[in-house]
Amino acid sequence: MNVTDLLRSLVLDPADLKPAPHRQATAQDAAERLGPEPLSCAACGTLARSTRIIDTPDHDRRWLDRCRDYMLATVVAPWALDPG
Ligand SMILES: [Zn+2]
Repeated sequence: MNVTDLLRSLVLDPADLKPAPHRQATAQDAAERLGPEPLSCAACGTLARSTRIIDTPDHDRRWLDRCRDYMLATVVAPWALDPG
């Protein structure tokens, strides 16, 4: 799933996401972002359990914080990929 499809599936406007650093994010960056202050899921507002940086076409790099349900909903299972 590319970033545009991902944002569309979550009904998100990248302009609403927090700007992210240009360097490669580490597990430590994500851990610091996820705690100790609770983060809200960008899609539904419940407690976020994961975060990642996405490169958006028009809004540069943004943090995408997601709850467990939305993270799982947007993971493409290998067996679901179209073999072409
Ligand atoms: Zn959510």
